[in-house]
Amino acid sequence: TLPRLPILEAVSRHDPASTAVVHAASGRRFTYGELLGDVGRARDLLREARGGADLDGERIAFLVENSYDYVVTLLAVMAVRSIAVPLSPAFPAPELQYILSQSEASLLVSSAKFDLKAQQVLGKDLEARPAHLELPKHMGGGKREEVTWDDAGPGEAGMMLYTSGTTNRPKGVLLPQDVLTAQSRSLIEAWEYSPSDHLLHVLPIHHIHGTVNAVLTPLLAGSSIEFLFPFNADAVWRRLASPFLPTTNGHTSPSAANGHTSSSAAKDKITFFTVVPTVYSRLLSSYKLLSPELQAAASTAVSPEHMRLSISGSAALPTPVKAAWRDLSRGSVLLERYGMTEVGMALSCGLDQADRVDASVGWPLPSVQARLVDVDTNEVIPEGQDVDPTTGRERSGEIQLRGPTIFKEYWRNPTATASEFVPDPDGGRPWFKTGDVAVRRPVPAAAHAQPWTKGPLYFIQGRKSADIIKTGGEKVSALEVERELLSLPEVAEAAVVAVPSGKWGQKVGCVIVVDTDVVERWSPMDMRRALKGRLANYKIPQVMKVVDEIPRNAMGKINKKLLVQSVFKDEHS
Ligand code: ATP
Repeated sequence: TLPRLPILEAVSRHDPASTAVVHAASGRRFTYGELLGDVGRARDLLREARGGADLDGERIAFLVENSYDYVVTLLAVMAVRSIAVPLSPAFPAPELQYILSQSEASLLVSSAKFDLKAQQVLGKDLEARPAHLELPKHMGGGKREEVTWDDAGPGEAGMMLYTSGTTNRPKGVLLPQDVLTAQSRSLIEAWEYSPSDHLLHVLPIHHIHGTVNAVLTPLLAGSSIEFLFPFNADAVWRRLASPFLPTTNGHTSPSAANGHTSSSAAKDKITFFTVVPTVYSRLLSSYKLLSPELQAAASTAVSPEHMRLSISGSAALPTPVKAAWRDLSRGSVLLERYGMTEVGMALSCGLDQADRVDASVGWPLPSVQARLVDVDTNEVIPEGQDVDPTTGRERSGEIQLRGPTIFKEYWRNPTATASEFVPDPDGGRPWFKTGDVAVRRPVPAAAHAQPWTKGPLYFIQGRKSADIIKTGGEKVSALEVERELLSLPEVAEAAVVAVPSGKWGQKVGCVIVVDTDVVERWSPMDMRRALKGRLANYKIPQVMKVVDEIPRNAMGKINKKLLVQSVFKDEHS
């Protein structure tokens, strides 16, 4: 028997013969029928590993690569009403040990591939050692279960993701079943996932983006997911292009036409792609090195005619990347959205290409309520009053969110939970303080084609703590300056940071990667001259450092605190 969780009911309802998961490397495919059978099998293994105990509300951590086995484990943990804690194999052992002990996990599941890593993590230093279960070598081929439903409710079944810790020590974000389902339903309404979507998954899987947007939501909608990991730009292009390459007899592969129903898994055309901005940048660079034949097939694969939706998020999408992708793909405009571990996806541009306005993250998604709160006065900025009538300047504010998609608490951290929510004086749901600052602008050119794409658009200015620079009494958005820097032909990468200054409080500083052919002769003067007229004088960086590479985490995010410390450590003025 299985608990009546919407995700499990959906898996059992989809056509059992249709594809749920594909492994790009081997072409191996797994159907929804198999998936349900294997979830039942894995559920039994979990129970056995814990001696038949009631697992409701326990934390079950797992180290499993991006694969069918990951999907099976995630659903099986929920099927025993436990809280799934997916771990990144890329984390060093001490970090994994921190998560295991902070979450008080009772079981660590590992795939054969990560068994050694699991043994290492379960080393002698660990205070409370969880039990360990090694998954059978290959899941798959599970006999279809005749499901009977148990109506005792979802219990504590859910997921717990740890924040990546770019601003603080990782916190466990508890995402119960109702929150996960609300997040997926909101995305299905907005982005129209359907059984004819085939999604290419190239992201780390222990983040909200990789797991809610790219695993749970497609499964709820009956789409199929193809795993290609670790990310490799060349392999991604080859995979995307494969259905469009001429076969030996000169015709393009027949599966390009009938897509999803093709019998050759590796040839299914991809219709849905969701990644972070750095992935698009890397694809753009590697595209230039492809053969002309592969280039033609690749650009067909990502054209609006074949790729239904290409999404960018988790960090700001540079406008030049968006423009270059549009050229490469013969007109596909990347859809940008904004989200975070605590809230899933919150703001998104729309399906109509005219509703994907440059530099904007769009509107609040269905069932998400958003407001902007002035960071200095704590006053809500009413919609329509986004410009200060006395100064004529835009009013920026912290994005606060509420609704059924928002998490309710940090695991075992009531202090952090209390400080991140603002109670509603009228007894409604509390508002979550995202720590991100935005402005709103009415954009007449937008099409407003979907019911939720109404009102002014949101433009992210950055993190309150790291991206809003206060210099000589003025506020500067790091993201706005980064956008301008990135639009200069000489600049390949840019991070704008606050550098402590005795005179100004903070100075605007930039760390940039400069194109190799100009690196010898491009000076801070050139940078300032190039930005003059594009940005108000006080926004133009006062200090500039050129580096070979800007360190980013797997999701393309920069830890700005560390960056300032390492690059500007001698800067005092
Ligand atoms: P921590 O909360 O521990 O600092 P983190 O910064 O990696 O970890 P995540 O939940 O992984 O937190 O990422 C959420 C953050 O990513 C948002 O708060 C926002 O700053 C940024 N972000 C997400 N999408 C966008 C976007 N489209 N544009 C700009 N920033 C974005």
